[in-house]
Amino acid sequence: MMALEFSQRIARIPTYPAAGGYAQRAPKVRLASNESPWPPLPAVIEAIQGALATLNRYPDPTNSLLRERLSERYGVPASRIAIGNGSCDILLAAGEALLEPGAELVYAWPSFSVYPHLSAASGARAVTVPLDACERHDLRGMLREITAATRLVIVCNPNNPTSTAVALASVADFVAEVPRHVCVIVDEAYCEFNLLEDPDASIDLLAHHPNLVLLRTFSKVYGLCGLRVGFALCGSEDLPRAVDQVRQPFFCNALAQTAAVEALAHQDAVTDRVTRTIAERISVDERLRALGIEPAESQANFCWFGLGGHDPEQAATREADVMRGLAERGVLVRGGGALGRPGALRVTYGTTEENAIFLDALAEAL
Ligand SMILES: *Cc1c(COP(=O)(O)O)cnc(C)c1O
Repeated sequence: MMALEFSQRIARIPTYPAAGGYAQRAPKVRLASNESPWPPLPAVIEAIQGALATLNRYPDPTNSLLRERLSERYGVPASRIAIGNGSCDILLAAGEALLEPGAELVYAWPSFSVYPHLSAASGARAVTVPLDACERHDLRGMLREITAATRLVIVCNPNNPTSTAVALASVADFVAEVPRHVCVIVDEAYCEFNLLEDPDASIDLLAHHPNLVLLRTFSKVYGLCGLRVGFALCGSEDLPRAVDQVRQPFFCNALAQTAAVEALAHQDAVTDRVTRTIAERISVDERLRALGIEPAESQANFCWFGLGGHDPEQAATREADVMRGLAERGVLVRGGGALGRPGALRVTYGTTEENAIFLDALAEAL
């Protein structure tokens, strides 16, 4: 039988390093995907149930109610807000709209595992800039990589997988130096958990930088990743228009729109969940240090740490051994090997009970 003949880009595009745990017999403690350990709010579940009866209708293709509510919440005109089937949808659409062979994009590494798809899918050149010794973005180094061919720069703040954040003042200086025709996406999937600043402070930058895009999501603190909905607050109407040009018309389903609108109305619950997560962050990090592990300074809902050993091969073996030890004890975490740093682990902060199980299992697995 003859094999199908695919386009050249299919050979280039990496397969997303999916976390485990979605099969039927999943381990009981799932700390591999930076999900919220808490279910959607009762009011959100109720709103979703209320929308079930009208699923014979297409969703609102302009996401008008959601964009209106986001506009009220963030003070950004609705025309400068893009919605997506998850924020990754906006990211990939931005790549499609901005990139092509001959163009370049710049991002840090290790960073979010979806970024390499943007160059692979478009044929653009990816320029990666190593994180600094504290696992933070080297924004100066990234600036130096901007050329006449650069179309897009991505800053993940706080950074996945390393959990670290750079100060908003540094991001502001950085954006001020980037040429106006280059799009800057600041991926703020975890901004609510960042104690370095008010999560909404970056929004002020939009007024001065039409090329700036703040990418946010309902997947993390809002606990709605199963529904797929994210948004982008933009410095101009250009990017929202362009991402809509490259996508199918009904990219955000009706239940996701309804749930997001309802979730936005419960900011007190967001604050509460952030507070609980940060309490877990402090106590898990403390117990990691007691085990002789030095986690990176987390401003997110997950931690990141090396397991020791400088030889890359040894580090990879150690990572695999610890991952196996944890899995045998019912705990699923993310190995650094698939994320650009063999010998490291990325572990989501779960509930107090889940974290206790993880820490006990880790102590044994070590
Ligand atoms: C989880 C995550 C997202 C969110 O993706 P969705 O498509 O909105 O679920 C975006 N960026 C980063 C860095 C993430 O870790």
